[in-house]
Amino acid sequence: MSAIAFDLPDDVKDVVEGLQAFARKEVLPRHEKHRDLLEDSRLKYSEDGRVAPDVQNIIRDVRMAASDAGYYQMCVPEALGGGGLGMQAYYAGWQALFHMCGPQHWLMLYCISHWAFGPSRLLERVTDQARAEILAPLMSGEKGMCFGLSEPGAGSDASMIRTRAVPDGDGWVIEGRKIWTTNSPTADSCIIFAVTDPERAKAKKGGISAFLVPTDAPGFEVQRIVKMFGHIGGDEAELRFENLKVEPWQLVGELHNGFATALYGVSLGRVYNSARAVGYGRWAVEMALEYCKQREAFGQPISEYQGVTFPLASSAMELHAAHLMGLNAARLLDTGAPAVKELSMTKAYSVETGVKAVDRAMQTHGAMGFTNELGLTDAWHTLRLINVADGTNEILRRTIVQRMLKGDVDL
Ligand SMILES: Cc1cc2nc3c(=O)[nH]c(=O)nc-3n(C[C@H](O)[C@H](O)[C@H](O)COP(=O)(O)OP(=O)(O)OC[C@H]3O[C@@H](n4cnc5c(N)ncnc54)[C@H](O)[C@@H]3O)c2cc1C
Repeated sequence: MSAIAFDLPDDVKDVVEGLQAFARKEVLPRHEKHRDLLEDSRLKYSEDGRVAPDVQNIIRDVRMAASDAGYYQMCVPEALGGGGLGMQAYYAGWQALFHMCGPQHWLMLYCISHWAFGPSRLLERVTDQARAEILAPLMSGEKGMCFGLSEPGAGSDASMIRTRAVPDGDGWVIEGRKIWTTNSPTADSCIIFAVTDPERAKAKKGGISAFLVPTDAPGFEVQRIVKMFGHIGGDEAELRFENLKVEPWQLVGELHNGFATALYGVSLGRVYNSARAVGYGRWAVEMALEYCKQREAFGQPISEYQGVTFPLASSAMELHAAHLMGLNAARLLDTGAPAVKELSMTKAYSVETGVKAVDRAMQTHGAMGFTNELGLTDAWHTLRLINVADGTNEILRRTIVQRMLKGDVDL
């Protein structure tokens, strides 16, 4: 029986079932085959912290298999050669995969193109020449990309970016730095945000533009891999641009209006991360339920103690609410509504709920909860991070209340 009363459209239901079948056929067996490589950090990362070449090849294989099956590019607009599905498919597909695979089977991350690392509706904004040059290998999963907005001095307030694109002939020269750019150590291209009109940028009236740049262009440097949570490698990096030349075909969206492009992308990230939090949260609660039925203390299973089970009930309530919020926000987006307040509420609530659910599941497992083999710590790390990525919980609250103060009080 489903806990959700309202029906997903038939094509979305089909996609969810198809994705789960795809993960069973293409992801789980690959994971088993390469378990040693994928689960041992010393093999997963190269000396400099980059994902090791053998692992990159496995990731590429999964992306390309998913593209062949039509899932990888399913939410890319049809005009770009994608499946044209909307946010309900994006949300429900990701949620089902995270719930089913948990954090250990992380190759599932490549079943659907993540908006910042592969093709998405964002590419509607690139020029015809850029489409001709980069679209085909992105759509096939052969190549990947990244999204460089944040800088050492500009995070939540992205209008503070200092990277400049100065006019040079027909094009521009970019100078500056980025940080936290996920996937950049292995990506083939990067969307870089840079100030093109300092006066407008200072007045917070535009003046920032987006450019699509190959990562092997002269002047593009991955300066350092940023390692998080004690990991020996990672996907985030610090970038430096020196005398990086870009031509008009590399402009993404309108000149001086790069923020619209950034928000267009980040809203996809909010849908994705809401689904990730609910999926991992459900995975963790189910694991805790199983464990507490088996583990005994003081002569009976710990499931007999309400001190153990009530936190799981609390997570069930919260995850159910977050799941409904996610489906609702995705449906609103599919009707064409901007759903800024609703998506902000959904993302903040989902990631707070998800991290709490995983934390409680760790507690249910006692010392076992902290072992690498269960994967709960991996889920916790991921969800803790996404309390900051794609809009911090505080910035999302700021957005919610700003909308409400302007009269959008419908709840
Ligand atoms: C795992 C991960 C991946 C990321 N990937 C990318 C990527 O691919 N590309 C990219 O461009 N960026 C990426 N980021 C960066 C991310 O977008 C920023 O971390 C985020 O915008 C917050 O900026 P900050 O870290 O500089 O924090 P700050 O903006 O410095 O904020 C510090 C604290 O102050 C709070 N704060 C700030 N302003 C206010 C306010 N007005 N009211 C209340 N509280 C406030 C924040 O909520 C936070 O708690 C990633 C981040 C993480 C963690």
